[in-house]
Parts: sequence; C-alpha cells; structure tokens
Amino acid sequence: MSFSIDALRAKPDDKINLSKIDTNATPGWDTDDRAGAEARTLELNTELERLQEVMWAQGTKRLLVVLQAMDAGGKDGTIRHVFDGVNPTGVRVASFKKPSERELAHDYLWRIHAEVPGNGEMVIFNRSHYEDVLVVRVFDLVPKQRWKQRYEHIRHFEELLVDEGTTIIKIMLHISKAEQKERLQDRLDKPHKHWKFDVGDLAMRERWDDFMEAFEDAINETSTESAPWYVIPADRKWYRDLAISEIMVQTMAKMDLDFPPSDDLEGITIPD
Ligand code: AMP
Ligand code: MG
Repeated sequence: MSFSIDALRAKPDDKINLSKIDTNATPGWDTDDRAGAEARTLELNTELERLQEVMWAQGTKRLLVVLQAMDAGGKDGTIRHVFDGVNPTGVRVASFKKPSERELAHDYLWRIHAEVPGNGEMVIFNRSHYEDVLVVRVFDLVPKQRWKQRYEHIRHFEELLVDEGTTIIKIMLHISKAEQKERLQDRLDKPHKHWKFDVGDLAMRERWDDFMEAFEDAINETSTESAPWYVIPADRKWYRDLAISEIMVQTMAKMDLDFPPSDDLEGITIPD
C-alpha cells in the first residue's frame, strides 16, 4: 500500500500557509496505525537501497535531497532512518554550518555548488542555500535588497542543476513550536544528548514566527515543477520517516534507473 505524495508537494501556483498545515497530522496514513507505517517504511528502505545501487551502477543520474527544518526538526533522525543501509560509496551527506571566513568571501552559492552530486551520486543536504534566505533574512545578516534577489538566483541555480541531469527533492520538516520545546528539553534532560543542545537555538526559537514567514516565502518562491518542495508534518517521527521514504522511492522510480548495458560481456570466459 502506498499513498499519494502529491498532497505533500507545494505546487508552483500554490501559496502555502504553514500555520494551516497541521504538524501532527498523518496525511495518507491512518494516525493510529504506527506499526503498519513502520513496517511499510522498512519495505521502502529496502527498495531505496536497491534503487540507489542501480543509480550508482548506472553512473549517469544525480540526485540531490535538500533537508530544511527548525532546530530539533528531525533532520539528523531522518538521515539516520530513511537512508539507513544505503551504500555509503554512492551517498554523501553535506552539512552546511555558519559560513567560514573563506566561504563568506565568496557568493553564497559557491560552497553549495561544490557539494552537489556527481554522476551516480545521491547527496543529502543537511541545511543548504536556503539558510541564505532563512536565518540570514531573520537576523538581517545581509540587507533585504540582497536576500530578496536570492529567490531568483536559487530558481536559476536549481534549474541549471536539473538541466544538467540532477533530480532535486526539497523537504521541509514541519514541527510545531510546542514539539520543538519538548525536543529541546529532552536534549537538556539527557546527558547523552547534551552535545546536541546549542544555546543559540533559543535565540532562533524566539523568532519562530519570523522563521515561519521566511520558510513560507522560500517555499512559495522556489517550489517549481522540476525542483519541488514537500512540506512534511513532522511531529510524529514515524510519519515523517514514512512520508520521506515514499517521496524518495516514488521520485527515484521515475528517474529511468537501470543497470548499464552488459551485452559486450557475451562470449567472455574467465581464464583458469
Ligand atoms: P546545526 O546544523 O544544528 O549544526 O547548526 C548549524 C547552524 O549554522 C544553524 O544555526 C544554521 O542556521 C547556521 N547556518 C547555516 N548556514 C548559514 C548561513 N548561510 N548563514 C548563517 N548561518 C548559517
Ligand atoms: Mg543544532
């Protein structure tokens, strides 16, 4: 059984309003059927492993997955669960932190372009160029006149990647402010999670509404047919993992993945 990922996709003509999207909902799946969802996610994971192997063997297609969320939104958990078991040879995670001095001395897409997938590769962006219209906008790190122009740059940049053979999936993990509080509290309460706690996250949390507005604009400005955004209700981790696994498998199923031709192997014998 699979569900339509279409309902999660931000259509180019839509104007999404994040406050109207229930972060606790499970569109396409029975909210009480967590066990069924977990079983289905495991099946999808096996299929994802298979598709990724074919993509790597084929060596011509490229896949970029962009993950964005508020702090504690579940980016790390998604990477651990959804991509569990894929062959690390063909898969890479690129995490974008506060830009270094060297990075700041270049345009904001410079460090991004350097990490995009090559032939056969799948790359997961843990944060991305979207930080340059999210945190940068909310904290006035560049003047408005500069970040405003970036939506257009980003549309063009992603179009370039698509035109040159990259498939792009952009995912926003949408959690509620109350859910974030619980998860941050959990990081404080559990010593083995202290390393994840960053006091700086509290300053971001204070600006929650501004971040939601920035996310809405980013999604509305840059969700295109070829580089769509998906907004995933992510308070329930099991639903988040299921939905993203579906998006991965359904997208890859349309990528014309196939093992490379092997007809020139006919007649070869292996010498003793
Ligand atoms: P984390 O992903 O939790 O390790 O945190 C990385 C931090 O780097 C987050 O607070 C991001 O908002 C911040 N960050 C990422 N990219 C940028 C950027 N282009 N400008 C400013 N801060 C950024
Ligand atoms: Mg953090």
